[in-house]
Amino acid sequence: MYDVVVIGGGVTGAFVLRECVKNGLYACMLERENDVCMGQSKANSGIVHAGYDAKTGSLKAKFNVLGNKMMPKVAKELGVKFRNNGSLVVAFSEEELATIVELKARGEKNGVEGLKIISKDELIKLEPNISKRAMGALFATTGGIICPYELTIAAIGNAMDNGADLYLGFETASIKGEYGSFELTAKDGRKLTAKIVVNCSGLNGEKVANLVGDNSFTLGGRKGEYILLDRESGDLVSHTLFFTPTKKGKGILITQTVDGNILLGPTVEEVEDGETYTTSEGLSSVSSKAGEMCENVPFYNTITSFAGVRAYSDRHDFIIEESKAKKGFINCVGIESPGLTSAPAIGEYVVNELIAALLPLKGNDNFCPVRKPDCFFKNLSDEEKNEIIKNDPSYGRIVCRCEQITEGEILRALRENPKATDIDGVKRRTRAGMGRCQGGFCQPYVAELIAKELNVPLDTVTKAGAGTEILVGKTK
Ligand SMILES: Cc1cc2nc3c(=O)[nH]c(=O)nc-3n(C[C@H](O)[C@H](O)[C@H](O)COP(=O)(O)OP(=O)(O)OC[C@H]3O[C@@H](n4cnc5c(N)ncnc54)[C@H](O)[C@@H]3O)c2cc1C
Repeated sequence: MYDVVVIGGGVTGAFVLRECVKNGLYACMLERENDVCMGQSKANSGIVHAGYDAKTGSLKAKFNVLGNKMMPKVAKELGVKFRNNGSLVVAFSEEELATIVELKARGEKNGVEGLKIISKDELIKLEPNISKRAMGALFATTGGIICPYELTIAAIGNAMDNGADLYLGFETASIKGEYGSFELTAKDGRKLTAKIVVNCSGLNGEKVANLVGDNSFTLGGRKGEYILLDRESGDLVSHTLFFTPTKKGKGILITQTVDGNILLGPTVEEVEDGETYTTSEGLSSVSSKAGEMCENVPFYNTITSFAGVRAYSDRHDFIIEESKAKKGFINCVGIESPGLTSAPAIGEYVVNELIAALLPLKGNDNFCPVRKPDCFFKNLSDEEKNEIIKNDPSYGRIVCRCEQITEGEILRALRENPKATDIDGVKRRTRAGMGRCQGGFCQPYVAELIAKELNVPLDTVTKAGAGTEILVGKTK
């Protein structure tokens, strides 16, 4: 029997799982999809927020500020790209100039360090492409950027390397029993038992809580659509640029990603079904707002668009507590933005406070927080590259030309915890297929490598799990 079972393989579950094994708990993760990081954690802005935004005293404010402080160390341990690029909340009117002063005061109350108001001239020096209509900004020096799927996958991989188990395709359909002896059953009939259950199931969190008779909250979904520009346009901005929040909302942001692309978005739209398709109205509103923030936005360099859905709760805050309906069942739900930033701090709180009150933590002297970092081959010097190729010639074969990803990196993604099993899984772990041609050239070769490595017929290789097979038969 497991000490703890974590339902949901997003970033929240990832850090709860990692913290469990760090504290000597026998833990596992259940994920209904065929890979981890398939929910909100795969499609978001990737901003490590400073923490001035959330209402003082809320869980969002508390965990945002703590998570922001933890992120540089966590990213280093997990070998994940993170950059402290700083963020700017840009004011376009006298009224917005007053709002950014209020935001600064709120941030300081929340415990955010390094906040300052900067003038128009200072802003233009920092961001030469900013609209000349901008009048000043709140500069949050602790703001950062990170790759959300790299972070989630690495945290789960590190937990697994330290003894945690992962069950994919395990859609939790029933939870029976009590604290100390829960029995969880998947839709396909698989069963396992655990003393404590942590519900990190994102948009599905309400339904999972209902399985133990907890009806204490409701969740809704808000879709956000994005446009991604090629790395060629990477110097459009260097900080993350936000509009000043107004009664109508926060507007979109413009940011570099850690991989040097430019990300524009997200929109905000209430959705019923969690559908993540983009729309022409959504994308044109992103481009028109982006054009208000910056001059000469190179939309001709658009390489893809995507959408994610935020899971918000009727309490308008994160819900992180033991259920009042069921002892030993912990809800970690309503984790909308800044949930990515907060995840490391949420993981610590759930284990060190909520789980520790139910089960004694034994500690784990053998826990290794460090995950062997990806070599990020394309960033190495020629000497370093040659050294790696000497030891493993598969690094000498480029598979994804746009992102310069080698066969060695793809094989690593198929062999390392949590192992990729499909084309999108390889893409999230390596960036093969994320460049300008979006997989047009490398996809067939990636499919061949997957088939060979998993020892399965080529026509069974999928893009993203059952029903997304990419080959239907031979043409010649
Ligand atoms: C558009 C958008 C922009 C955002 N931008 C930012 C940002 O810039 N910075 C920031 O800090 N935060 C941001 N966020 C918020 C952040 O992405 C989320 O807070 C975070 O990803 C939530 O992670 P999670 O693990 O709670 O949920 P998810 O990532 O949704 O994971 C839940 C998992 O549970 C699984 N699951 C569901 N039901 C079951 C079941 N019955 N059995 C087993 N598994 C199940 C799902 O398949 C899923 O993988 C943004 C969110 C969105 C949508």
